[in-house]
Amino acid sequence: MAAQQGKMLLSTYNAKRDFAKTPEPKGTESRRKQSQSRFLVQKHAARRLHYDFRLEFNGVLLSWAVTKGPSADPSQKRLAVRTEDHPLAYADFEGTIPKGQYGGGTVMLWDQGSWEALQDAAEGIQKGKLHFNLRGERMRGGWVLIRMRPRAGEKRENWLLIKERDEFAVDDPDSLTEAFDDSVASRRSMSQIESATDVGA
Ligand code: MN
Repeated sequence: MAAQQGKMLLSTYNAKRDFAKTPEPKGTESRRKQSQSRFLVQKHAARRLHYDFRLEFNGVLLSWAVTKGPSADPSQKRLAVRTEDHPLAYADFEGTIPKGQYGGGTVMLWDQGSWEALQDAAEGIQKGKLHFNLRGERMRGGWVLIRMRPRAGEKRENWLLIKERDEFAVDDPDSLTEAFDDSVASRRSMSQIESATDVGA
């Protein structure tokens, strides 16, 4: 349960990947002097489609895989499975991870912006309840991540990603994922990203 203390090392990220074969960046921790922390969401057509939600924190990207994608509807509690910390350089990654490699499939930069904890972030992550504000193109306003109590034998850290009720809340479970299906970085579709990668590879 490497994630329990709210801080993983990028060795887990690096160990899962063969950098001779994947276009993803190598994991090195970095410190940036800045006032705002980045957040981003990568739509990832792996074996099963999901949305990787990432928050910049202490020189890495804390990461959760949100199977159904984020919902702007406060009545929706979206399962967010904690995954290994990713390097900050991953925040700009868009492309296709080759089949057979870890996470093989196309990755789209689906949203990006800045985030701000509405409490002590380290304590929130440790205790399993983190309130924060997002300033993205698509995800905006208040959100909360809540860690669920582990079931017997459960190795994964399961969290819930929930929209707080504010002016950015929408009473429609799938408004975000249905309205937005292109890249915020390149405006490409998933198939355009995939075919571009094929040509270059
Ligand atoms: Mn993923």
